Amino acid sequence: MIASFETTCCIVGGGPAGMMLGYMLARAGVPVTVLEKHKDFNRDFRGDTVHPSTMEVIYQLGLLEEFLKLPHQELASIGGKIGDFAFRAVDFSHLPVRNRFVALMPQWDLLNFVAGRARVFPNFRLCMEHEVTRLLEEQGKIAGVEARTPEGNVEIRAKLVIGCDGRHSTTRQAAGLEVQEFGVPIDVLWFRLQRNRNDPEQSLGNINYGKILILINRGDYYQAGLIIAKGSFERIQGRGLDAFQRDIAEIAPYLKDRVPGLQVWDQIKLLSVQINRLRRWHRPGLLCIGDAAHAMSPAGGVGINLAVQDAVATANLLAGPLREGNVTEAHLAQIERRRTFPTHVIQALQVRAHNGMAKIFANPGPAKAPWQLKLALRVPGIRRLVGRILGMGVRPESVRL
Ligand SMILES: Cc1cc2nc3c(=O)[nH]c(=O)nc-3n(C[C@H](O)[C@H](O)[C@H](O)COP(=O)(O)OP(=O)(O)OC[C@H]3O[C@@H](n4cnc5c(N)ncnc54)[C@H](O)[C@@H]3O)c2cc1C
Repeated sequence: MIASFETTCCIVGGGPAGMMLGYMLARAGVPVTVLEKHKDFNRDFRGDTVHPSTMEVIYQLGLLEEFLKLPHQELASIGGKIGDFAFRAVDFSHLPVRNRFVALMPQWDLLNFVAGRARVFPNFRLCMEHEVTRLLEEQGKIAGVEARTPEGNVEIRAKLVIGCDGRHSTTRQAAGLEVQEFGVPIDVLWFRLQRNRNDPEQSLGNINYGKILILINRGDYYQAGLIIAKGSFERIQGRGLDAFQRDIAEIAPYLKDRVPGLQVWDQIKLLSVQINRLRRWHRPGLLCIGDAAHAMSPAGGVGINLAVQDAVATANLLAGPLREGNVTEAHLAQIERRRTFPTHVIQALQVRAHNGMAKIFANPGPAKAPWQLKLALRVPGIRRLVGRILGMGVRPESVRL
């Protein structure tokens, strides 16, 4: 027999979009249930960046002081290295917010933090190990979901279902929402390398020999990401692990004594990158936001920020109608309209960045910084402009609850 319960708003997925939305709706007095398919938030592939505009939201929610007590590193500017040419390309120091830096922290810390604050509200419920498998539909309207749990299947009836279940969204697929795909020429190999005390802090773009290596400092290890041409992992594996180790040491020679730590291919995860978006984000009784509405590439590390901004806009516009029990499709369409422009702008920039990466793969020799880059870096205010776009996004949202 299927167990069942009711809620006002059922959020599918406990990522940045789902947890932030769950917290904000609960804080505004809406009975809300978040369903997350995993048993915890401790996974490695999620991205580690908390941007200035996300921290501004956390400040507006009155949580910033506590949040900043979590272990993190602060990046006030971001640079990279092409061949021997090291440069700073992004400056956050002028942004009109309290925290003019990107906080780097494992995403599970951010999600556990938000979950902990949300649990304070009696109208908030977080159900881990609840994997939504299908939508319930009544008279053409989504009326809830069915979820698989270790104890059996559960039916959750809701006035509104919000799909925050990421780039492989079950909700958007089950709802038949049409997806527009944009070709992506990259994938990411994700692995850990031991970090020594005297190693550089981070290298958010180390480009050489036709490869791009990202190294995020997590204390005693680097979370490393090697950006590869889409579909090339099998070929890389075919060359053997020794060749892979040599490739990494070639780009970052100081890691030469650490790469032998990569002993088996299981230590190296392939993360498939996509950019796509829904032509329509909603149906009666259902809305999708975050990656479920628009899958983001890791380029620029802005997907978490965009997901949180979607959540803030959604909570601002829906808390009242949800409390009053009169959510209409017009409300859902309003959210889509508000968030479409920021999504399109950022995805267009990511597509451009991918095209640049594809050119890098085409040159397996020592990399030379293009003259256009050197020239652009001389334009006054360019680093601040890039900092503004990366740090704040387009049309940043403020908490209005
Ligand atoms: C390789 C890679 C690296 C990235 N690095 C960064 C970065 O450094 N910074 C950055 O800002 N962005 C990064 N991004 C993009 C970023 O991960 C996403 O844009 C962001 O996580 C979107 O948040 P979300 O809450 O919408 O979805 P997600 O973070 O994908 O969360 C979705 C949640 O839903 C759950 N779920 C899925 N299906 C179901 C189901 N059927 N039932 C219940 N739960 C379900 C999942 O377990 C997950 O917890 C990266 C992306 C990739 C691919």
